Amino acid sequence: MEKYKNRKWSGEKGKKFGKVGRTDDPYMPAEGQEASICTSCQAVYQEKRWFFDEKLYQKLAGTEKAREVTCPTCRKIKDHYPEGVLTLSGEFFEEHKNEILTLLKNEADRVAGRSVADRVISMTEEGKNRLVVETTTEKLAQHLGRAVYKAYKGDLDFRWSEMNKFVRVYWKR
Ligand SMILES: [Zn+2]
Repeated sequence: MEKYKNRKWSGEKGKKFGKVGRTDDPYMPAEGQEASICTSCQAVYQEKRWFFDEKLYQKLAGTEKAREVTCPTCRKIKDHYPEGVLTLSGEFFEEHKNEILTLLKNEADRVAGRSVADRVISMTEEGKNRLVVETTTEKLAQHLGRAVYKAYKGDLDFRWSEMNKFVRVYWKR
């Protein structure tokens, strides 16, 4: 009886049955809202997809048309949950540290500008000739490693963990 009631209620709202999983989506905007927005990185969520659209964000921000959330990428950064770690080391690295850092930052900005998921969490210098870069995706760690390799050659090595979606990338020169 209870079930029947629920169904009838859904039916009255004009919803279709069979869209299992929709309600499990934690970023889903509420009924009547146009989108969800991330208030930390200004990403927009529509049709189950995160993207950047500055105009749309500005239009929706602070209005009832948008649900304010923290996107999965910003959450990963907040919770410090990297899926990729790139370690750069060597004498050549030490000598060319500034140019390599600039290359990394430019590449990271370029990728992050078009993809909400790929972002650098941290860049930490460990001593004079070692830098550790943590990224939100394994893809970005690999991408940055390849970019440095393409520009400066050296040795590039990837190590995936078997259990998780996690990669360690090592570049040395
Ligand atoms: Zn965000």
